[in-house]
Amino acid sequence: MAKIKTNDTVTVISGRDKGKRGKVTEVRPKEHRLVVQGVNERKRHVSRNSARGALQAGIVTFDAPIDVSNVMLVCTQCNQPTRVGFQINPDGRKVRVCKHCGQAITDGK
Ligand SMILES: [Zn+2]
Repeated sequence: MAKIKTNDTVTVISGRDKGKRGKVTEVRPKEHRLVVQGVNERKRHVSRNSARGALQAGIVTFDAPIDVSNVMLVCTQCNQPTRVGFQINPDGRKVRVCKHCGQAITDGK
């Protein structure tokens, strides 16, 4: 089970965007990377003839993937960046638990 999932809120703990918070829009488990909204923004020049679906030529901003180790999950209960533990509920479901406040972290929408 992944510690960080799509739609989680994370905070960046190192690199250029240190301190930024954003929503996870994509997780790439094999690469140990994820894409966070508004974090690690890159600009790409797009020509009018490109087949990328751009409406017009110009510069397109997109969020480049960052390494999972550069972010921390923000707890949905106490709103603090935290390490994540796991716990098995009485109903047998595995849930993520905040190491900070000890409460279960809910999945984002
Ligand atoms: Zn917490």
